[in-house]
Amino acid sequence: MKKVIVIGGGPAGMFAAIAAAENGHSVLLLEKNEKLGKKLFITGKGRCNITNAGDMDTLFANVTTNRKFLYSAFYACDNFRVIDFFNAHGLKTKTERGNRVFPVSDHSSDVIAVLKKALHQAGVTVRLHTEVTGLWAEENKIRGVFLKNKEKEEGDAVILATGGVSYQSTGSTGDGYLFAENCGHKVMPTEPSLVPCVAKESYVKRMQGLSLKNVRVIIRKDKKVLFDEFGEMLFTHFGVSGPLILSASSLVGKELKKQPLSMTIDLKPALTREQLDLRLLRDFGENKNKQLKNALHGLLPAKMLPVFVELSGVDAEKKINEVTKEERNCLIELLKAFPVTLTGFRGFDEAIITRGGICVKEVNPSTMESKRVSGLYFAGEVLDLDAMTGGFNLQIAWSTGYLAGSSIE
Ligand SMILES: Cc1cc2nc3c(=O)[nH]c(=O)nc-3n(C[C@H](O)[C@H](O)[C@H](O)COP(=O)(O)OP(=O)(O)OC[C@H]3O[C@@H](n4cnc5c(N)ncnc54)[C@H](O)[C@@H]3O)c2cc1C
Repeated sequence: MKKVIVIGGGPAGMFAAIAAAENGHSVLLLEKNEKLGKKLFITGKGRCNITNAGDMDTLFANVTTNRKFLYSAFYACDNFRVIDFFNAHGLKTKTERGNRVFPVSDHSSDVIAVLKKALHQAGVTVRLHTEVTGLWAEENKIRGVFLKNKEKEEGDAVILATGGVSYQSTGSTGDGYLFAENCGHKVMPTEPSLVPCVAKESYVKRMQGLSLKNVRVIIRKDKKVLFDEFGEMLFTHFGVSGPLILSASSLVGKELKKQPLSMTIDLKPALTREQLDLRLLRDFGENKNKQLKNALHGLLPAKMLPVFVELSGVDAEKKINEVTKEERNCLIELLKAFPVTLTGFRGFDEAIITRGGICVKEVNPSTMESKRVSGLYFAGEVLDLDAMTGGFNLQIAWSTGYLAGSSIE
């Protein structure tokens, strides 16, 4: 039996601790907060999208950075094993749109309660209010950890699961990067991902709070299409957000760092230009004597109307029966390609995940053990791994946590 120290009481640390204890080790879980799973509590808007019930190909396809590294981890503990774990501990789950798995209760607190119970049943000692300040390693071998109260805690193995740097108020302040660097590990530059985007145009701000459903967003670099998806988005005081934009941020991130990108919103993706023209003619026929600004209510949300008419270049005061075919074409063009220029990202405090982190080339993918310091293991977001929304980031935490904990012999 070994003494295993786990740093960080997030999903990765808790799963690692349970796996190591069930493997017969004496496990001490150190968490600097007053409670476990502070970030887990706010996941999925408080409902916790635990994982995704798609097949293995789907899991891999939704990992954005270093998916090959996850091969052993995903096979050691796949999404169905995670669902079985929670079900076996009394948490009923349900699968929603896009195979997203949630607790039936819709409460992330129930997910945390199960983990706490499992930690207790496995015999893990949990110490809260305990901040680790560094790793204690000698001659490339782990000896334990240093604590903020100046004490040392000895251990035969240490699992580092301190998370990334997004939503720092939850405790993820990037400590693990420094600990790893001090042991000779390379840390890849970090940046916010799954994050709202900043827009150039001032008219965007005038539509803040407006949510658009069933639209198609296309993002291009020059003529090359970088992102093209259907879904939901939101205008904010700084730019754009919502599910489509968060996903886009993960996929166009590299390019957006280099230059502004042009985004177009197809407001009527189900209609061709010809069908839209017929629709406009019909609407106009019913509103012949109205002014343009009062005749588009059936087509567009009220908050968007003034901006839309202004951008179309057609006189807002013009009577409908005076609108020319060319002007109608301008309206159609705008309905199919409403323009927004993306200029950058919002910060870590609004990012669902951190891209970057401990370089996976220096970590054994079959065990999660450091290739530099024996007895040191890594799990979760502290590693240079990130995925799309839909439960995939938590699956990374569960899988890497499980593999780290169960690999300690
Ligand atoms: C708003 C929001 C919603 C999200 N929703 C979802 C979702 O629905 N589904 C999904 O799959 N993913 C979601 N995510 C992402 C997911 O929460 C993270 O990927 C996941 O929490 C990472 O787990 P982790 O255990 O690696 O790190 P964390 O959850 O960040 O946990 C790290 C823990 O380590 C502790 N710690 C840090 N430093 C020290 C130290 N020096 N000493 C002691 N303890 C320390 C921290 O206090 C923290 O408790 C969401 C993220 C956010 C911000």
